[in-house]
Amino acid sequence: EALDKLIDLKGSIRVFCRVRPSISTSNFKIKSPVTVEQEKIAVQAVGIKKDFNVDRVFDQESTQDDVFHEVKPILRSALDGHNVCILAFGQTGTGKTYTMEGTNGNLGVVPRAIQELFSHAAQDSSSTYAFSISMLEVYMGSLRDLLAPRQTLFKPTECNTTCNLSILATKSGAVEVEGLTDVLIADLKKANQWYCRGRRSRSTSWTNVNNVSSRSHCLTRITIRRCGGATEEVSKLWLVDLGGSERLLKTGASGLTMDEGKAINLSLSALGDVIAALRRKRSHVPYRNSKLTQILSDSLGDGSKVLMVVHISPCKDDVGETICSLGFAKRAR
Ligand code: ADP
Ligand code: MG
Repeated sequence: EALDKLIDLKGSIRVFCRVRPSISTSNFKIKSPVTVEQEKIAVQAVGIKKDFNVDRVFDQESTQDDVFHEVKPILRSALDGHNVCILAFGQTGTGKTYTMEGTNGNLGVVPRAIQELFSHAAQDSSSTYAFSISMLEVYMGSLRDLLAPRQTLFKPTECNTTCNLSILATKSGAVEVEGLTDVLIADLKKANQWYCRGRRSRSTSWTNVNNVSSRSHCLTRITIRRCGGATEEVSKLWLVDLGGSERLLKTGASGLTMDEGKAINLSLSALGDVIAALRRKRSHVPYRNSKLTQILSDSLGDGSKVLMVVHISPCKDDVGETICSLGFAKRAR
């Protein structure tokens, strides 16, 4: 079993599934179409009966601790010099932000990961570490620097050249977002301050746009520099809260929302295509089809580790979206 686990960890793409607790408004409990047994998820409704397998399932009772416990090994890879991507996927309202950011009393993956990096650095006497943080939002094909000085921060609807950062490939094959603010974080307290600031930049400027956070991808990047003797190793840890994966028909969106939805759907399917190509070891990986996959291109492929956490709803009304999300997970495995 230990060996199996080791082999499993060596595989570069892992898929987890987390089921949101049901938020019941009545005392009358409707049976959920979603049931979980070990690493298998069964979806059963009128005319539908499907099973899906993932690497790890977190059921409705799972805690932030349970999730982080399984995320921790992949952080070790980042500290060992691998680029790492942790992606939260799913329909709006299924708990992506809860998993990644968490709440004050129930911290999510990002604050816990940052804490883990600092505590590892404090314990490792053979290397010294430097960490820096960047945060950006991908909204309708443009990139917004969430840690930029306040006066240059624009609302998504007034996007101009300052939020249209370009993506460059460096000589060594690394990918950089040109001009993206990258702040050296000396300690955990500073790290959390910058992380909070990035989150605020994301939400406060959205007030006149309905529900934009579900229509954009929010990316946090921790750059890890490890010095051991004469060598320096640089790796990136990407923590990504993806835009809502729901299809458009159901929401009956039109106008701006329709365009926003299309942009999200396009970039999510581009991400799915990239992961499927990597999974099948295809020689051509279609990174160039979206900004999202371009930005992440040096952290999804060779030598890097990817963890996709697919979030699903336990509700009967969402069963169509649940099957779509699990279908996405299946393609990635
Ligand atoms: P998303 O980011 O996918 O749109 P959210 O993270 O905002 O979804 O979750 C929607 C609501 O459900 C929030 O109020 C959140 O706190 C709550 N929620 C989501 N997942 C859980 C969970 N596992 N445990 C408790 N509350 C959750
Ligand atoms: Mg969210």
